Amino acid sequence: MQRVELADGRSCPYRIQESGRARRIRLRLSAAEGMVVIVPAGAVPPREDLERLIQTKSRWIARHLHRFAQQERTARAGNLALPGCIHLPALNERWDVRYAGPDVNQAPSSTRVRVATQGVLQVCGPESGRHEDRAQALRAWVRAKAAAVLPGWLGELARELRMPFSRVTVRDQRTRWGSCSRHGRISLNCKLLFLPRTWTRYVLVHELCHTRIMNHGPDFWALVAMHETQALRIRAEMRTAWRKLPAWLTMSLN
Ligand SMILES: [Zn+2]
Repeated sequence: MQRVELADGRSCPYRIQESGRARRIRLRLSAAEGMVVIVPAGAVPPREDLERLIQTKSRWIARHLHRFAQQERTARAGNLALPGCIHLPALNERWDVRYAGPDVNQAPSSTRVRVATQGVLQVCGPESGRHEDRAQALRAWVRAKAAAVLPGWLGELARELRMPFSRVTVRDQRTRWGSCSRHGRISLNCKLLFLPRTWTRYVLVHELCHTRIMNHGPDFWALVAMHETQALRIRAEMRTAWRKLPAWLTMSLN
């Protein structure tokens, strides 16, 4: 392994590989191997010439090295963040999470989550699979679970408060707990399952009130307070709610 100094002063290791098929000198960069200089077989140029050539590609190399470092950092963070247990306060449920190889009736390269027994989830997928695939499979499980319960809660509450809506969808928004369109279409964030039940209820009340009043003026807050007397306190408490969500749930590489 040799090293070359790039234009930004950084020293970068590289390896020379002779190839019978190569017609000219080529650089190859990958996260796994670093920099490989491919040269036509039997025609390895003098070291100085080679390094001068590499230096002309300094910016291209630096850009790739930066990206590799970033990917590695994210993967490491994702690895640390994969949960051993998932707590869903809104449902008052706790799930232990176990990681295993692929199931018998599963494509060997896919990753999926199955309920082993009540309270135990099994993430099945290739041992060499990326952390991100496991996190993604868990997020899909959360979304499916939320889609199975949140519309029912909203429907019940809408009847109780006499505030009908036209449609509800459960999504995985990054910045909002919920939204309501002018046509009474409500969209709810699947991460609501990670909040205490009273907070989740507040979000549903809030969106239902938007079917009457679209803006956030005094009339709107008066209407919310009529149906949720603790709205002010809950709103204040919820300010830090996003930060308390687990990283595997909110951090995605895609
Ligand atoms: Zn609102």
